Amino acid sequence: MLGADFFRRWMAATAASVDREAERLTALDSPIGDADHGSNLQRGFKAVVATLEKDAPDTPGAVLTLAGRRLISTVGGASGPLYGTLLRSTGKALGDAAEVSEAQLAEALRAGVDKVMALGGAAPGDKTMIDALVPAVDALGDGFGAARAAAEQGAEATIPLQARKGRASYLGERSIGHQDPGATSSALLVAALAEAAGE
Ligand code: ADP
Ligand code: MG
Repeated sequence: MLGADFFRRWMAATAASVDREAERLTALDSPIGDADHGSNLQRGFKAVVATLEKDAPDTPGAVLTLAGRRLISTVGGASGPLYGTLLRSTGKALGDAAEVSEAQLAEALRAGVDKVMALGGAAPGDKTMIDALVPAVDALGDGFGAARAAAEQGAEATIPLQARKGRASYLGERSIGHQDPGATSSALLVAALAEAAGE
């Protein structure tokens, strides 16, 4: 079973990984965006970790709901409201249980990803974070390691796609040949989940 500690570790591992990879995320956001994805998420997850240390929510649902709210309030770009919605909706779906199973987390994440698709209007294949998140949630039944591999593959698979949502879509065919920054950061988020689980 996974308690609030696990979810705090997940957010801390995400913040550390976003910090390490910030330059790469921003570099990916240069040719097909406005070169701010790394700094956006760095600022957002730093604030998430600070808020979680201060408020110390004690259930999985409360950790993710608070983290999501903080992302929405600190990240101005498209990715802030989208990642914020992902975490907040996943947290809401977990309810107020003190501990949740991996199966419950998989189900809640599915609900969170569905909310992101409803908010942003992106479907798989549109070259967005959805292209890493959907395969990860699909693979979660086989464990955190499988989800991490699926998210990484999903992010790499955005390279030949033409963007149909977000800033990159303004480039039309010129968005082809570049890996999507949001799909790349989603793969970091999923890898941090495996890290929090000790995998
Ligand atoms: P902005 O585009 O406002 O500068 P960021 O650079 O932080 O925001 O994030 C860009 C990423 O957000 C993209 O690489 C893409 O993965 C994701 N994104 C943008 N629009 C959407 C959308 N409508 N649905 C899902 N993801 C999106
Ligand atoms: Mg950007």
